[in-house]
Amino acid sequence: MDLPTSPSQREKIEAWLRYYEDLGLGEFYKDRGDMGKRSVRPHRATEAVVSAPEVKATPPKPKDATSVAAVPVEAPPVLAAAPAPSLFEILDRVENDSLQLIRENLGECTRCRLHQQRHKIVFGTGNPAADLVFVGEGPGHDEDIQGQPFVGRAGKLLTQMIEAMGLAREDVYICNVVKCRPPENRKPENDEVATCSPYLIRQLDAIQPKAIVCLGATAAQALLQTQDSISRFRGNWFDFRNTKLMATYHPAYLLRNPAAKSEVWKDLQKVMAHLGLKRKK
Ligand code: URA
Repeated sequence: MDLPTSPSQREKIEAWLRYYEDLGLGEFYKDRGDMGKRSVRPHRATEAVVSAPEVKATPPKPKDATSVAAVPVEAPPVLAAAPAPSLFEILDRVENDSLQLIRENLGECTRCRLHQQRHKIVFGTGNPAADLVFVGEGPGHDEDIQGQPFVGRAGKLLTQMIEAMGLAREDVYICNVVKCRPPENRKPENDEVATCSPYLIRQLDAIQPKAIVCLGATAAQALLQTQDSISRFRGNWFDFRNTKLMATYHPAYLLRNPAAKSEVWKDLQKVMAHLGLKRKK
């Protein structure tokens, strides 16, 4: 079988190569030009990463044989199975990684077109050793100005949700799939998500939370590598690189559809149960 040639697969592989270049592993893919020509199995990219001598990374903890990109931990499978290992399965953990190092590696990023109109990179904020990480879509206007995630109207609702869980904003970590504001708050394009995702994965790997909550479809679809509608799988636990992950509706959606707040609260109660949290009286 030929190597993946669909635009989205190529984007992911290109982003992955850029990611390794960012880590100073530029020699790693000298035979890149051959990739499209050689007829190999789709797993080839995985093998190349694992066997590359230069990569100073530790492999993800072993998974069981049935593990795929997004495996529901309890509920029956509702997501379409990924046709091949996802980018996130083949991305190795970076040894001794830290949020500070990831931020330094990101630098004054110009890797995708989103840098052109941004004011500030919104890297993420909160407890670097948090048990709980919230992942949103991307910065909006207020976040772009302040350089902090979820500080606008949706952010205020997120803060209320966090406090309803018996936590403070400082207890959790909050970040986004893309670190620069998409113009007019449009959804990030696939190539923008692919370019920025390796930094998100490193953030999640560095924090090693007990639970990840994806806020909205963009974050959930990016991390679970699915096109399914979030309404089909929200509230279920999935395995993400050996961490429990749940998707729920985005606070901005709740501002438009307050009736969905009760669904989100049910989801967050499952997260609280997993973390042993009790609502403050
Ligand atoms: N919406 C998001 O997805 N992220 C933010 O940081 C703010 C609003």
